[in-house]
Amino acid sequence: MSYNEDDYLQLSGIQHFLFCRRQWALIHIENQWKENFLTTEGNILHEKAHNEGSTESRGSTLIMRGLRVSSSSLGISGQCDVVEFHRDEKGIQLSDHEGTWSVYPIEYKHGSPKPERYDEAQLCAEAMCLEEMLRTEISCGALFYGEVRRRTEVVFSKSLRESVAAAVKEMHEYYSRGYTPKSKTGSWCKSCSLKEVCIPTLMRRRSVEEYVKGALCENS
Ligand code: SF4
Repeated sequence: MSYNEDDYLQLSGIQHFLFCRRQWALIHIENQWKENFLTTEGNILHEKAHNEGSTESRGSTLIMRGLRVSSSSLGISGQCDVVEFHRDEKGIQLSDHEGTWSVYPIEYKHGSPKPERYDEAQLCAEAMCLEEMLRTEISCGALFYGEVRRRTEVVFSKSLRESVAAAVKEMHEYYSRGYTPKSKTGSWCKSCSLKEVCIPTLMRRRSVEEYVKGALCENS
């Protein structure tokens, strides 16, 4: 399957979608957005990393910031914080740079490494876009966390790639239907930038449901 460019979804939405499908739909379908300190801190880190389109050479490494990427097979587009190109005789050729290079994407994140794989999925989606655009294979990349200030390497395994493809497919299905799922509230909502928008709405819906259920019980 190949998506039309007009139907591409934002690559960065994958982490929202995996964190909470409702949060993703509120942001990407209903265009609701609220800053909280987590997103603000994340944006500052991203601004530092992006510096769009700049290229720097350090020894045998080329560093590109803010590289725009897309994939017609996944139907997503976005921007990589940093892509490093390492000299590698099995790598690919680049215009304007002699030699052959392997590709290594790096994504900047606030906080410290998390047990969930949301950040890994976003990085893997970037790698899948780069693979399609540059016709190469990328085996791993890295996440750089602001709190610990070090890289965590991520291997783009078959299962990680499959979870990215499945999430993106589901995102397209929701988006084409304009569907905002209900989702459950829980401890994870504490760090959600949309809780003030989402929870009162969920509670209202729940109370209507409870009212209907109660009315049905009374009449049965
Ligand atoms: S408040 Fe909770 S349920 Fe609502 S969007 Fe945020 S994480 Fe999802």
